[in-house]
Amino acid sequence: MRVDLYAALKKYFGFSSFREGQEEVIRDVLQGKDVLGILPTGTGKSLCYQLPSKVMGGTTLVISPLISLMVDQVKQLKSSGFQSVTALNSFMDKEEKQKVMNRLHAFSLVYISPEMLQNQRLQQRLQHMNIKLFVIDEAHCISQWGHEFRTDYLKLDQTIDLLKNPPVLALSATATPEVQQDIMNKLRRPHMKKRIYPMDKQNISLAVEEHLSPEEKTERIIEVLTKNQAPTMIYFSSRQWAEKVSFELRDRLKQRVAFYHGGMEQTDRMLVQQQFMNNQLDVICCTSAFGMGLDKKDIRIVIHFHLPPQLESFIQEIGRAGRDGEDAVSLLLFTRQDHHLPQRLIQSELPEKKDLNRIFSFLQKEREVPEDEDIMERFQLSESQWNFVKFKLEEEGMIRGRWHQKVPSAIQQKIEQSLENRWV
Ligand code: ADP
Ligand code: MG
Repeated sequence: MRVDLYAALKKYFGFSSFREGQEEVIRDVLQGKDVLGILPTGTGKSLCYQLPSKVMGGTTLVISPLISLMVDQVKQLKSSGFQSVTALNSFMDKEEKQKVMNRLHAFSLVYISPEMLQNQRLQQRLQHMNIKLFVIDEAHCISQWGHEFRTDYLKLDQTIDLLKNPPVLALSATATPEVQQDIMNKLRRPHMKKRIYPMDKQNISLAVEEHLSPEEKTERIIEVLTKNQAPTMIYFSSRQWAEKVSFELRDRLKQRVAFYHGGMEQTDRMLVQQQFMNNQLDVICCTSAFGMGLDKKDIRIVIHFHLPPQLESFIQEIGRAGRDGEDAVSLLLFTRQDHHLPQRLIQSELPEKKDLNRIFSFLQKEREVPEDEDIMERFQLSESQWNFVKFKLEEEGMIRGRWHQKVPSAIQQKIEQSLENRWV
């Protein structure tokens, strides 16, 4: 298929250039090849199937591991003018699901969880559709060596056969050679074209320092930022620490300092983000809630005040430095006690136990599925707090469209327990 990819990129997405790897993957996909694309987080893996879907017509199926990821994607796509997009998920009630099912062929992008894909009726419907591309997002979930192994992912190969073998695009940010091989084996596609673009940021120097106490870390930050005045992000594993240190830095440095975390009002959060983008702030003390979708090119310093809970989030966060290609520094400060941190859930990112009870009794009384926004507003929850409850409900298998009517007390109890254990 001969298409002007740059024209399509501009027309549908408003971008004038591809990020590294996107164009190669997209060209392969348009030639009908099966592709395994490994691109770093934040590069724009979604575009690798969204653009082909626009160009090819028909329906692109996207297998995605988390309902909340799908719902976010669909929201984002709709707000940027993509109307024929849906996420078939168990948060829909029966009627809504039925409505979508009945006109499934009319959607150009359909997001589905691997579990839901096993639904027989859905499969029958899909068999009669013009499926142009079968995408597996977060494809490391297929592999038992990946860190989110899910067994329904092992049935994808059969489903692809059933759909008369449309081209397959498997995407992930983190896949070791073993995981890559395993993905291809499990999909029974040993010939997949590999497009591997590992994260390689030569302009970011990494430094790790051990300190004896948080106070010592704060002193060190003051020393570093007195010598270097440049756009800086400091990541904390707790909201309290982000605030505390930001006050201290504000008192003792010349720079303009603010804090940012999920517990703040939406409007305050947006203000801080915009001020930082516009260089009206120099230093942001934040939790990992900050940075999603942030595309500030000239961040010179990223400091981690605590050991990050996951390697992936650390990589993603230091990757925010030096996007302009100029030199940048990542500084990880840790104390021995930090080793315990990753095991504990960042307290304030979680809903209070008393809130949980109120949420559950509310959900049980509701007949309609409430909108996320309604629940967050009613219970004054931050997005991450509500997401936590939702994730937990998903994890417990309450994803058959019924959970909102009745959350069994056993599951309610388990969720409360995990809240007590404070696992991230
Ligand atoms: P990933 O799945 O790889 O983590 P996403 O698909 O969520 O990344 O995209 C991350 C961000 O990059 C999105 O805001 C997206 O609009 C943006 N993006 C994708 N491709 C491009 C591009 N070619 N130019 C500029 N921005 C892009
Ligand atoms: Mg993605």
